[in-house]
Amino acid sequence: MTRLFNDPTAFADELVEGFVAANRRWVRRVEGGVARRQRTPEGQVAVVIGGGSGHYPAFGGLVGPGLAHGAAMGNLFASPSSQQVYAVAKAAENGGGVFLSYGNYAGDVLNFDTAQQRLNDEGIPCRTVTVTDDISSAPVDEISRRRGIAGDLTVFKVAGAAAAEGADLEEVVRVATLANDRTRSIGVAFSGCTLPGADAPLFEVPEGRMAVGLGIHGEPGISETDVPTADGLAELFVTSLLNELPPSVEDANGQRAAVILNGLGTVKYEELFVVYRSVARLLEEAGVTVVEPEVGELVTSFDMAGASLTILWLDDELERLWSAPTDTPAYRKGSVGAATGGEEFGDDAADALDDEGDSESAALPEASPASRAAASVVTALLETLSGTMDEHADELGRIDSVAGDGDHGIGMQRGASAALGAAKDALARDAGAGTVLTRAGDAWSNRAGGTSGALWGLALTTLGTRIGDDRDPAAADIAEAVQAAVDAIRGVGKAEVGDKTMVDAIVPFAARFREELDRGSAPGDALAAAALAATEAAAATSDLMPRMGRARPHAEKSLGSPDPGAHSFALIVTAIADALPTVAAQPEQGTS
Ligand code: ADP
Ligand code: MG
Repeated sequence: MTRLFNDPTAFADELVEGFVAANRRWVRRVEGGVARRQRTPEGQVAVVIGGGSGHYPAFGGLVGPGLAHGAAMGNLFASPSSQQVYAVAKAAENGGGVFLSYGNYAGDVLNFDTAQQRLNDEGIPCRTVTVTDDISSAPVDEISRRRGIAGDLTVFKVAGAAAAEGADLEEVVRVATLANDRTRSIGVAFSGCTLPGADAPLFEVPEGRMAVGLGIHGEPGISETDVPTADGLAELFVTSLLNELPPSVEDANGQRAAVILNGLGTVKYEELFVVYRSVARLLEEAGVTVVEPEVGELVTSFDMAGASLTILWLDDELERLWSAPTDTPAYRKGSVGAATGGEEFGDDAADALDDEGDSESAALPEASPASRAAASVVTALLETLSGTMDEHADELGRIDSVAGDGDHGIGMQRGASAALGAAKDALARDAGAGTVLTRAGDAWSNRAGGTSGALWGLALTTLGTRIGDDRDPAAADIAEAVQAAVDAIRGVGKAEVGDKTMVDAIVPFAARFREELDRGSAPGDALAAAALAATEAAAATSDLMPRMGRARPHAEKSLGSPDPGAHSFALIVTAIADALPTVAAQPEQGTS
């Protein structure tokens, strides 16, 4: 239960504000998150981490000498947008290139990859290592599909220490990859977490039971048992991790290891110590020497009651990097000395932030009168879209919490409303339909984050680029633009029909739209028929098992429940098809 919040949709921004106010010694606020208070020394690799909010101290609490140079801080449990990642990287970078690292989740991968591409295109070298420590999230032969949990810290720590030692980008990538290859975690939960403003937890664990193999976004566990004793939990943790040694570790006996016993949100430190007592004994009995263990909250999942155990199997190099000094708001060891910091940003720079970049005053491209008229129809339809998401946000959140992380409603609502704001702004400045759509798409992905935010943003910008600003798009132009948007979504997300994603609804939508137009149907009728096809296809996803996205590890749980992204797509196109006759007849309405 979260008790203290103002407007729930402002929660993520407000927490960053307070976090920075409380930690000025280490961080300054930048667009998209935080960066170190001190400028990155020239030529040093900038380590940029990030993810959704709700995991404190990950990610902002891990910014400081010896660890990260910046953290992109997304909305609650939603990946930061590519613009956020890019902006933080630009603020942190100082000639040594950018190293990105984060837990392996579909939405984060999409957004961080897009940011990486943009940095590379600008000539700033940027490389990534995603963290895949959670042994419950995929079998060992699909290790690259595993998600990242508290092993984030071991990988970030090693990368940050290497950067501080002066390693170049290639070298930071090498040691971080090594650390990730040798890090394994397992977690359990006793109760789900409740996001601010939500009236129910994302998932529930029956009283006296324990979910094994939880994620850090309230994704439900993989299996369930009775709650064991503290010793019993230690036994489960240690046995599981000893049973899955990394390939480069032949035998646990004689190894040295960094160990993290992590609290997920509402397990007391005292309880953790009781568990750790047995963890330490069991590892010693297995012949493992523990090096600088951590017991506490390092990567949390909001107010979830749960714990996880992480082991980084050390070699000499990793031990040196794990043990190196660091000084961040939430994690410190040794003494970093005075020499590590570059020039400090003043108070103004540390606190001031103008992060609403949506209403840039730069001139917009010229548009024909016909395209400007179309732009007002587009804006009115975005108004319908945004209203539909407001109406269905709770329902979409509930569907997403069956096998995902429950943020689909919030994310769609936030993205759609940002898109509408940007569209209105562009329309008021005489933009054409293409520019209104591209502006709306940029705003959507910037504000929403998450997988759906990246993909919807991409879809709108693709539509906008195709439609352009020089004409009133004919039905055939729209069909072509829709197909281009579908191709773009498939190109970036790599999902195919049958994977249980929004693609399952979008592909039949685009196909039926085209078919109806080819048959000579009026555009409005074609759209209505296509919306019906999308609705049927979205409903049919209930029978599928997810093969993409964060719901994949919970495939069975999602049987009988539709894919949230497919469902929201069907709701949106249905509402737009319903609204079109009215909107098209009165293009001036609904655009004020
Ligand atoms: P996140 O998964 O980052 O929490 P959302 O909850 O907003 O983001 O969106 C989840 C939806 O995104 C899923 O229901 C699915 O429709 C869609 N999705 C996930 N992965 C992919 C992908 N690779 N390609 C297309 N759509 C995807
Ligand atoms: Mg989600």
